[in-house]
Amino acid sequence: MRVLAMLDGTPADPLTPLIRVDDLGLTRGDGVFETILVVDGKPRELGPHLDRLANSAAMLGLPVPDRARWERCVQVVLDNWRGGGEMALKLIYTRGPEFGDGTPTGYAMGLPIGEKVLAARAAGVSAVLLERGYDPAIVARAPWLLLGAKSLSYAVNMAALRHAESMGAAEVIFTAADGSVLEGPTSTVVVASGRTLRTTPPSSGILRGTTQGALFRAAERAGWVTKVEPLTVRELKDAEGVFLASSVRKITRVHTLDGVALPETGALHKELTALYESEY
Ligand code: PLP
Repeated sequence: MRVLAMLDGTPADPLTPLIRVDDLGLTRGDGVFETILVVDGKPRELGPHLDRLANSAAMLGLPVPDRARWERCVQVVLDNWRGGGEMALKLIYTRGPEFGDGTPTGYAMGLPIGEKVLAARAAGVSAVLLERGYDPAIVARAPWLLLGAKSLSYAVNMAALRHAESMGAAEVIFTAADGSVLEGPTSTVVVASGRTLRTTPPSSGILRGTTQGALFRAAERAGWVTKVEPLTVRELKDAEGVFLASSVRKITRVHTLDGVALPETGALHKELTALYESEY
């Protein structure tokens, strides 16, 4: 089951070719995207996702996304979805055809949640630490590196996941050149210890996670302390629980890091999942 709507609100057949072969999103990865979880017809964190789309577009110098048009386009996909309770809703926004009139390409696509994600939600994942190859100090100095933009150039992220698989792990936690912890290729790292939740700040060149944001909101209301500050690998290894948060995977526990079993987090995972779900 797949549902597609173009940014002008026209529903389209997802199996019919629609993108021009010179689209810069296709030829150069020159565009931005979002993936949103929809449960029972309700998109989660749509506002923060549209904010992040706008922020990524600004970092790439793309035309400002028209929020009302995106909201209408999302509604067309929601209205046409017959694929069950959960959907992954992708928003794609590219610089458009290289030999066009400068109009960006935009569309929203509804997809089922993949089997791998469902398995990770249920059983947790093993992860390896891999170097991302930059020092957080470069983020402010080199905006052309697009660190912190959700650009379509995810080939490096996908390559890191394949590398992890070749090492027998399902997931990756990236580290920076200064040894600090960054994020996963498609997730935010959240560490729990003594009723404190911590995550790395976006100023380190990572995405501002909408799922982590929702979890921290709920946790603060329930009396947890939350901290957004640089994390060391030592803190990760010594934590009571390490989690990967993302829209489609929700809060997934990391049960093994670099081949070493982490503490059992069944009860903690249940509690954090309940906090996250209490937001909806
Ligand atoms: N970091 C990266 C690199 C991602 O690609 C994602 C989501 O796909 C996230 C973090 C988590 O963001 P969110 O919780 O908004 O889905």
